[in-house]
Amino acid sequence: RKRVLSGVQPTGALHLGNYLGAMRQWTANQDLYDNFFFVVDLHAVTTPHDRKTLSDTTLSSAAMYIAAGIDPKKSRIFVQSHVRAHAELTWLLNCSTPMGWVERMIQYKEKARRQGENVSVGLFDYPVLMAADVLLYQADLVPVGEDQRQHIELARNIARRYNDIYCKKKRPRTFREPKALMRTTGARVMSLEDGTSKMSKSDENDASRINLTDPPNVIRKKIKRCKTDSQEGLQFDDPQRPECNNLLAIYQIMANKTKEEVQRECGDMRWGQFKPLLADAVAEHISPIQDKYNELLQDKSYLASRDMGFLLPSDLGY
Ligand code: ATP
Ligand code: MG
Repeated sequence: RKRVLSGVQPTGALHLGNYLGAMRQWTANQDLYDNFFFVVDLHAVTTPHDRKTLSDTTLSSAAMYIAAGIDPKKSRIFVQSHVRAHAELTWLLNCSTPMGWVERMIQYKEKARRQGENVSVGLFDYPVLMAADVLLYQADLVPVGEDQRQHIELARNIARRYNDIYCKKKRPRTFREPKALMRTTGARVMSLEDGTSKMSKSDENDASRINLTDPPNVIRKKIKRCKTDSQEGLQFDDPQRPECNNLLAIYQIMANKTKEEVQRECGDMRWGQFKPLLADAVAEHISPIQDKYNELLQDKSYLASRDMGFLLPSDLGY
């Protein structure tokens, strides 16, 4: 069976983009693959953070994985920093990876621009840590959102270069080259405030995203106030109307419909008609996830027991 590995940074509450781009694929394919899902706390410390909040969010992210449908019997769930080899391999890969490859990474440029003076070496090195994450487990497939495509491509190049340098004759070569696994719809969910930028945990405006923990009234309010346009009717794929395309795509997935069905149903609607429909579909879709999440966090003993046992490196079998 092919091996799958993926994770989310515990930099804040998980949002609809994380769910649609990444986690939905993890759960859908769980029976097909050999799965590793981890909370990537070493990545979360590349940007300013609070220690106590980070440890709370690490635990609540693991709870959200399970609530969203990751079954700990079918998938290994663990915390990145509990496995020292992630940091160790990063160092070795740092030493065989050309600076120029990492300098090209778009996410670094974007995040560094936002952070000004406080940019750490860690933020720059983030893609190499991510390569180490994937290569360490010899993962074949990495289910991620579109924004991570460039980092996976880099991980492939890093693997190939390492193999070329150190395994000239050795077979099998040390590292397997991973591939990104991406959905055609939902791979890039956009901000509710700006249809040209990605929905993100690190956007300081909470109204720009729908958190998986938002109650229905908050979801309704955020969608009611989100950015739209003044054109008649609704349609997919109009480059002039990125917000419209984004909201229709979210509705399509949440309501479990085809693009054609959505176009037929909503093509003649006004925003005032469509927005409540979308809000209800989102709230309804994530409500069972929220119930399960709240249940897990009410009595943390189940999570704590996983934290003590399942999450230890010795159980990971590598
Ligand atoms: P941050 O702003 O801290 O980087 P993030 O929202 O980008 O947070 P990550 O933890 O970096 O979330 O990413 C976790 C996973 O979610 C990755 O697979 C990423 O590709 C995916 N993802 C993140 N944002 C989106 C989005 N808007 N649409 C689709 N997938 C997304
Ligand atoms: Mg991100």
